[in-house]
Amino acid sequence: MIIVLMGAPGAGKGTQADLLSERAGYRKISTGDALRKHVKLGTQVGKQAGEIMARGELVPDNVLLQVLKEELGSNPKEIVILDGYPRNLAQAETLKEVVEGVHPVVCCAHLDVRRDDIIARLSGRRTCSGCGASFHVSANPPKKQGVCDKCGSNLIQRPDDDAKSIAVRLDVYDKATEPVLDYYRKRNLYNRVNGGGQTDQIFGDLKGVINSCLK
Ligand code: AMP
Repeated sequence: MIIVLMGAPGAGKGTQADLLSERAGYRKISTGDALRKHVKLGTQVGKQAGEIMARGELVPDNVLLQVLKEELGSNPKEIVILDGYPRNLAQAETLKEVVEGVHPVVCCAHLDVRRDDIIARLSGRRTCSGCGASFHVSANPPKKQGVCDKCGSNLIQRPDDDAKSIAVRLDVYDKATEPVLDYYRKRNLYNRVNGGGQTDQIFGDLKGVINSCLK
C-alpha cells in the first residue's frame, strides 16, 4: 500500500517520512534521494539527472518510472511512504496504470505550508553529504556546526537550495505538481495536514490522517 506524501519543496516531507519510517516502521521511498544516490554514484540515470536537478527542473518521467520501480520492489504487504512522486499528472496516471495493481495508493497526505515559511526553510536548509539527514541553520541546527549529528559527515547546501533554483522549483510545483492534489481529491484520497509549526505536532496530525486511511 502506498501513502503519497505531497507538499511543496521544503514542506517537510523528508523529515516526516523519516519519522514515519522510524516510529511506525513504514518504508520510505524518496525519488529525490534515489536520484541523488544515482548522481553520487555516476550511473547512467545520475548523468541524465544531475544538471536538471541542480537547475530545479523535473527529471523526465521515463527516468523516474525506472527509478521508482527499482525502489518499490514487489512486496504488496509493505506500507510505503512515497515522497516526491508523483510530481505531475502524467506521473499520477502512470502510478495508477503501472504500479497500483500491486501497490494501491490508499492515501494522499498534503503537508500544507505557507510560501514565506517554505522559502525560509529551504534557504537555511543544510543536508548531510553522507546520510542525507536534514538540518536548518536556525530552526534545527546540528550540535556541531557543519557536522551531521547522525553520521558525522559534512553538512552541505544542496545545489538546488540556492535562490535561483528555489524559485524554479516553486514555479514547477505550482504549475506541474499542484494539479496532482486535485487528481487525488477527485479520487477521494486527498487529506490536508497543516505543515506549519512543530515537527512532533505535524507528525501527530499526519499519523492520525494515515491511520484513518488505513482503517
Ligand atoms: P526532492 O528531493 O524531492 O526535492 O527532489 C529533488 C529533485 O529531484 C527535484 O527538484 C527534481 O529535479 C528531481 N525529482 C525528484 N522526484 C522527481 C519526480 N517525481 N519527477 C521528476 N523529477 C523529480
